[in-house]
Amino acid sequence: MENEVRIVVKWSGKEYEICNLSESDSVGTLKNAIHRETGVRPERQKLLNLKLKGKTPEDGCQLSTLKLKQGFKVMMMGSLEEDIADASGPPEDIPDVVNDLDIEDEEIALESREVYLAKIERRIKEYKINMLNEPRPGKKLLVLDVDYTLYDHRSSAETGYELMRPFLHEFLISAYQDYDIVIWSATSMKWIEEKMKLLGVSTHSDYKIAFYLDNLAMISIVTPKYGIVQVKPLGVIWGKFDQYSSRNTIMFDDIRRNFLMNPGNGLKIRPFRQAHLNRDKDRELLKLAKYLKDIVHEEDFNSLDHKHWEKYRPRKKEQHTVKKESGDLGDNRDSSSAS
Ligand SMILES: [Mg+2]
Repeated sequence: MENEVRIVVKWSGKEYEICNLSESDSVGTLKNAIHRETGVRPERQKLLNLKLKGKTPEDGCQLSTLKLKQGFKVMMMGSLEEDIADASGPPEDIPDVVNDLDIEDEEIALESREVYLAKIERRIKEYKINMLNEPRPGKKLLVLDVDYTLYDHRSSAETGYELMRPFLHEFLISAYQDYDIVIWSATSMKWIEEKMKLLGVSTHSDYKIAFYLDNLAMISIVTPKYGIVQVKPLGVIWGKFDQYSSRNTIMFDDIRRNFLMNPGNGLKIRPFRQAHLNRDKDRELLKLAKYLKDIVHEEDFNSLDHKHWEKYRPRKKEQHTVKKESGDLGDNRDSSSAS
């Protein structure tokens, strides 16, 4: 047929033949065809030598107007979604203003996307966990973010202790009685290890951390509202350990989008910022220690709504307080609620 257009796309050192196009097709159609062959989404494609009067043609432009020779070689620059996400570094670099006011609408749709489940599968297979302490039978699982959750990483101070969230160790001692504890930070393993050493978490005698997860255990997902974001899918842990599931896992983070793959298991805490100003006022970890105690007898955490964690009241008669187990916790909590 005379109006068939055959184009070769050169990208990343390889050539891809794009067939089944006709002169009446548009540049947009060509981009979609390139997407099918290469996996590079149309908006990420830069077709370097495809020009109309020296300019980049619009997507609506007909191929016939470009007067392409058969077998014309288009040089493309462009990245796969995953490459972009990997290259964009830890999501700490996403400005803090990317917040999550009404991200809920998107949650349900994302949770079961096959492409994301496949990524989680890959993490389960390929991500190596360095076990620090073995899981203990019968314990539930607490997964903790670091920056702004346990530590104010943006303020400056002479020692790490000044930036530590108040009552961190008391909180961890209390939680450890019922929960195995995992630290998951969107930074590198090196930094997590450094920070946990600095804060005295890795060497504490009254609790043990099961293991650390870093940014490489995260996956990137595409949300209509925020574009590509990296999230912390608990499925990676659940796939590796039979003992943990959505029924007994809770995760704390100051950024709700980290929960997008498992919204029901995330508890968004108040961020701990400006440590020097807030050190004397912040009681979040005390309250959370109590919440963890209060919910520990829930057989299935899926029945809880962590959004209203502060209003939670244990159903049973026994109220569980943290007072007994760790010295000054109870007193501090009392004085904070009175002030
Ligand atoms: Mg954080």
